Amino acid sequence: MLLRHTSSEVQQRGALTINPAKTCQPIGAMYAALGIHGCMPHSHGSQGCCAYHRSALTRHYKEPAMATTSSFTEGASVFGGQANLVAAINNIFTIYNPDIIAVHTTCLSETIGDDIPQIIQRAESDGKIPEGKLLIHCNTPSYVGSHVTGFANMVKSMVTYFSESGSGKKLNQVNIIPGWVEPADMREIKRLCGEMGVKTVIFPDTSGVLDVAMTGKAEHFPKGGVTVEALKTTGDSKATIALGEVTSGPAAKALDVKCNVPCEILDLPIGLAATDRFIDTLRKILHIEVPETVTEQRGRLLDMIMDTQQYTYKKRVALWGDPDQLVALAEFLVLLDMEPVYIVTGTPGKNFLKRIEKVIGNCAFKAEVKAGAGADMYLMHQWIKNEKVDLLIGNTYGKYISRDEDIPLVRFGFPIFDRVGHQYFPTVGYRGGMRLLEMILNVLLDRQDRDCPEESFELVM
Ligand code: SF4
Repeated sequence: MLLRHTSSEVQQRGALTINPAKTCQPIGAMYAALGIHGCMPHSHGSQGCCAYHRSALTRHYKEPAMATTSSFTEGASVFGGQANLVAAINNIFTIYNPDIIAVHTTCLSETIGDDIPQIIQRAESDGKIPEGKLLIHCNTPSYVGSHVTGFANMVKSMVTYFSESGSGKKLNQVNIIPGWVEPADMREIKRLCGEMGVKTVIFPDTSGVLDVAMTGKAEHFPKGGVTVEALKTTGDSKATIALGEVTSGPAAKALDVKCNVPCEILDLPIGLAATDRFIDTLRKILHIEVPETVTEQRGRLLDMIMDTQQYTYKKRVALWGDPDQLVALAEFLVLLDMEPVYIVTGTPGKNFLKRIEKVIGNCAFKAEVKAGAGADMYLMHQWIKNEKVDLLIGNTYGKYISRDEDIPLVRFGFPIFDRVGHQYFPTVGYRGGMRLLEMILNVLLDRQDRDCPEESFELVM
């Protein structure tokens, strides 16, 4: 009984979150910045913040997540962090020689009110930014939003700083903003686009950065990540496809305003229907045919769904995590005839409830859905105590509920500290949908094997 104090009586809580279903903004900004080639994420705050953010990313991706910090002490906290940041910029370019530094703020520097663009100008006028080197920034006060907001802010900054519509004519390419997904998902999105014959600029792109191959050669900046040159061309692309309204929508809209690049904001391509919409949008934008190979992948996922529907039918599921993932995942589960009856995300956002309502509004089951303040793992546990579910889907933090309530857990989302595979095997696209379904089925069937009477213990499904 790890969560022995969770009571089943749900009470209104105004100013208390217990076991939040989110983490802090800079983690997202750091992850997004790592998706630019040759980039050093820089945390403008105290060492403790940076150590926590790096450790969260390192434990999830099982790769060292590189980042630097302004190392605030008492002096910087009182007088402001300008001197620390200028010194840090000088040190970073001198010691690590990145192509670009991506600065994000923390609670402390935001509370002080450090003006980052002004400090960057100061570093420039003091000659601390070498010729050809770049600096971008975004604000990530962690007392609002979540890691998802921080990610969205840094991606939007990529547009603000780099996107240009210089050539005056449209290039035959599409911008893809993949949202906060795994490196393997970004790789799969690129693979799918390649199979469709679509030239893309995908940003950020953490494939080849946080899933690097072991070559025996130590490289400070891995070869993956979107290049600044590619980012600059995004203003001349035919269109932008933003995957995930919360994580990718702001950057796509900013690019439309700045460079007049029309955007389509879609759900993450998790599951059959969302992937269909992604493929169809590519087809319409570029006036191309969907290749037979992609249609076959779709068919295989559909076949797997039909072959296994008896195991997923009417299974009650509890979900927690990030809004973009939850919307697409809930839609996929409904297609599998499952019942996502409890859904929480700690990320605030007015649209989330409407988007979920659109997915499950017409279903026969009744669902509890909550976002933002008070939408935490404690509430999720209370709901489960009142009426049990068959399956949990969410990040690592659900393992306590899983153990206490004896309910199987499929790890999905961020963070996953206690398992491997998520960074290498995609859950987006048709092939990713098959993997996700396989993970769901395997835990359900394992549970069936464990609990069934001896006479029903079968070798066949
Ligand atoms: S919540 Fe604020 S103080 Fe805490 S680690 Fe995040 S940025 Fe730092």
